[in-house]
Amino acid sequence: MSCFFPWLMKIDLHTHSTASDGLYSPSELVQHASEAGLSLIALTDHDSTNGLEEARAAGAIRNLEVLPGIEVNTDHANTEVHVLGYLLEYQQAAFQQTLQTLRDMRVTRAQRMVEKLQGIGLNITWERVRELAAGAVGRPHVAAALVEKGYAESVADAFNRYLGRDKPGYVPRYKLAPLDAIRLINSVHGVPVMAHPAGIPDLEQLLPSLCEAGLGGIEVYYGEYDPPTVERLKQLADTYYLIPTGGSDYHGPGIHPTPLGARDVPEESVRRLRLSAEERRRTPAPAFELPPYRP
Ligand code: AMP
Ligand code: ZN
Ligand code: FE
Ligand code: FE
Repeated sequence: MSCFFPWLMKIDLHTHSTASDGLYSPSELVQHASEAGLSLIALTDHDSTNGLEEARAAGAIRNLEVLPGIEVNTDHANTEVHVLGYLLEYQQAAFQQTLQTLRDMRVTRAQRMVEKLQGIGLNITWERVRELAAGAVGRPHVAAALVEKGYAESVADAFNRYLGRDKPGYVPRYKLAPLDAIRLINSVHGVPVMAHPAGIPDLEQLLPSLCEAGLGGIEVYYGEYDPPTVERLKQLADTYYLIPTGGSDYHGPGIHPTPLGARDVPEESVRRLRLSAEERRRTPAPAFELPPYRP
């Protein structure tokens, strides 16, 4: 544990703010990170980089570096595959336009989920869900509206009862494949990293094609992953020459169990992410276009 080595940098490369489904604003998140003794975080909101400017400004005051990041949720063979992107040239206009489109589709999907839930007699409204979501709307905001009305005990309970796949409120999202997310991140010279991969059943079959498309890293030191899982993923990272990254996936109190900064992420991972980003910037970024809507 890094507490025995106070000279080590404390790092968390997976965090969320109110720009997506986190509970803290970007500056509150940075304040909590600073109080937890962190010196570097990456802000990885879903389909949004809108929290980055505020987080970076708050970090500059506290001597805490904020790396630009993003998390793109995709579907693969009926499971969730999330792809993180680091050190992206996120201000690029076409990229921001794509993110806006993805967020617009999140709105349509959440509205349809609210309608389905209303259809089974639950008294929640889209207006309330929209109020709860300051940025990119997601299932956690619908969950919060359900909890508020007493239909679920917690966000996790709302997912179990209503919002998980095959549950009555579930609406599939716009189908983005893991490869699409990698190409989107490539289009702004970011480093694509596979998020929380332990639960993906065919991970080993999937990895070669993703690596070929430019995947640069894989989360190893993630959330609640236990030592055997970390070891297995570390070996996969070595086999595929992927950068092992990690973090808490912090969303604020009571959402994911891992406290902010609770995983020891090696400084070496950040150094390798920076090198990879530098290398990627030597060639022109390929253009990206969203695939057609596939319901
Ligand atoms: P969405 O992007 O709208 O499909 O929502 C997915 C997000 O919901 C994930 O990125 C997690 O942050 C969160 N989430 C997924 N499953 C659960 C769960 N069982 N309990 C709490 N949050 C969850
Ligand atoms: Zn989230
Ligand atoms: Fe995720
Ligand atoms: Fe996340």
